Amino acid sequence: MLVTSMHTSSALNLSSLPVPVGPLTEMSYSPSCTHFSLWSPVADQVKVNIYKQGEGGEMESAHSLTHNFDGTWSATIHGNLKGKFFTFQVTVNGTPLPETPGIFAKAVGVNGNRAQVIDMQSTNPERWENDHRPALASFSDVILYEMHHRDFSIDPESGIKNRGKFLALTETGTKNAQGLPTGIDHLKDLGINHLHILPSFDYGSVNEAESYLADSDSRVPAQYNWGYDPVNYNVPEGSYSTNPYDPAVRIREFKQMVQALHKAGIRVVLDVVYNHVFDAVSSQFDKTVPGYFFRHRPNGTLSNGSGCGNETASDMPMMRKYMVESVLYWIKEYHIDGFRFDLMGVHDIETMNAIRQAVNAIDPTIFIYGEGWAASSPALPECQLAMKANATQMPGIAAFGDEMRDGLRGGCSDDKEGAFLIGNPNHEESVKFGIVGAIEHPQVNMEKVNYSKSPWASQPTQMISYVSCHDDLCIADRLKTTLAHKSKVSGTDEATLIRLQKLAETAVLTSQGVPLIWCGDEILRDKKGVHNSYNSPDSINTIPWANKSKYKGLYDYVRSLIAIRKTHPAFHMGSADAVRANLTFLPYKGANVIAYQLNGAAVGDSWSDIIVILNSRTKVSRVTVPHGNYTVVCQDGKIDASGITTVNGKSINVPAQSAIIMYK
Ligand code: CA
Repeated sequence: MLVTSMHTSSALNLSSLPVPVGPLTEMSYSPSCTHFSLWSPVADQVKVNIYKQGEGGEMESAHSLTHNFDGTWSATIHGNLKGKFFTFQVTVNGTPLPETPGIFAKAVGVNGNRAQVIDMQSTNPERWENDHRPALASFSDVILYEMHHRDFSIDPESGIKNRGKFLALTETGTKNAQGLPTGIDHLKDLGINHLHILPSFDYGSVNEAESYLADSDSRVPAQYNWGYDPVNYNVPEGSYSTNPYDPAVRIREFKQMVQALHKAGIRVVLDVVYNHVFDAVSSQFDKTVPGYFFRHRPNGTLSNGSGCGNETASDMPMMRKYMVESVLYWIKEYHIDGFRFDLMGVHDIETMNAIRQAVNAIDPTIFIYGEGWAASSPALPECQLAMKANATQMPGIAAFGDEMRDGLRGGCSDDKEGAFLIGNPNHEESVKFGIVGAIEHPQVNMEKVNYSKSPWASQPTQMISYVSCHDDLCIADRLKTTLAHKSKVSGTDEATLIRLQKLAETAVLTSQGVPLIWCGDEILRDKKGVHNSYNSPDSINTIPWANKSKYKGLYDYVRSLIAIRKTHPAFHMGSADAVRANLTFLPYKGANVIAYQLNGAAVGDSWSDIIVILNSRTKVSRVTVPHGNYTVVCQDGKIDASGITTVNGKSINVPAQSAIIMYK
């Protein structure tokens, strides 16, 4: 999609516009007066319009703002405006632009068209001042769980009252029909410590007015969207609140969610999508300073590195400042603990480092990662972009490891193409690259790694290790599709599916990178074979909570893997030097077996020598190991950290399509 910007002033002129210092506060309220401010150095005139309602109704009054030397316009309106709604209207070159709630609205009415005069203090839930982020010693301890609000709680069998809402995550004691924990209790029991929520800022693709009705009126179809279409970056999405009309409700409920997760020992990661907007022309950005916030091609049309019709210009001083301020705002106002940058490769390195630095000043344990790629070529030289290949220039920022993901499940261009998991040869090196955390390792032959021909991470904590996320087929669907294609027989037997799903999770959760689990993979969720389910109905995207009982063996396996990882530092050494010194791949003649040894004693692990073997062959593989007395804790799809059996000798039989973990 190609959208022509309404104003194509040369970026050169725009980049020299004055940028104000200090926080971008567009509205500050007190009972006696409200101060309004908007940055628009190109404006002839700026007005603020006051309304009684968040949509519709007559305008109550309009006020002209005064131009300041730093490019902002401001006015103080006396009287108590609490609860009133407002918009700004900017006139450029004699043309009034459409009204906007501003680029930094903090409270908005339904569908985010008008901002509200609000006392943010009044949105805090009880005991908010006592809310603290759970402790985190090192990024190497992070275990991510990626989740969409509706996927997670919309199934009636979740036993959750506020299904599909922020509040779902505040409900404890919820159970499925067989009495197994769901919701936040499920997350706690699983043992993850970071919950990465898909876009939860105000986005445009769900009509909040209808989403509100859908709960009580079955004639209104429920709408589903991942939410990668930002409208207001600094406000929670209304359709996840119990009342999108009252701006305070979504804010308070979001905070209640964070508070409940923190109480459960879980940090909250926000998926941030600063790289593009829903539509450039109708964006808050173009309604304040047209053209400024987007990159353009030499012919003046919008560049489209996001694949969504536009790409923001993080390299422009005000956009950079905006991103830094927005991240800080979510940390300070909402106590957010981490950020996942959508298409981080659209942003520039300097901006990402500026964000890391600003965040460090608050709390260096806040985790930052992103997709180290773009959808197509951004209008900025590759060497300046926050791409995976440039990760060494962005210390403390991680990127998704697609080498391991596709080495395990197959490439992203063809869903039918399988890889290591289904027994296809020549993917071992890509998986090994993921096991070491995308760092340089003497035993990883980069010539044979699928995508990167040189290691891109300085530290293993710079790589997100995963096999499935919201994008593409989830792992169960991918395994079904690839196995059917390979065998020319449709209908994978469930036992095989579960074996391979366990093998996949073993690879991810024993990797030195930072593991990420896509919600529901631990209970064999599927998406009925839908590849891009961004707007598919609940029937496709729902996690069926009955699965937790049906596939309890898989759930217990993943839960035990997480517990082992957390107890044993050898699986997350945290430093590249430690991994190079203490992770040794063991030789194996033949394809589809990866074996390695971890020197646990060297990193303070109670297990002195640990052997991990991944066997994706359809038959038993006999693997040679250093001679010793081993306690086997993972074998043939079962885990027991206290030991399943013992092995004495210099080789072990690894059953088909399964993993071994054992220690001396
Ligand atoms: Ca919205």
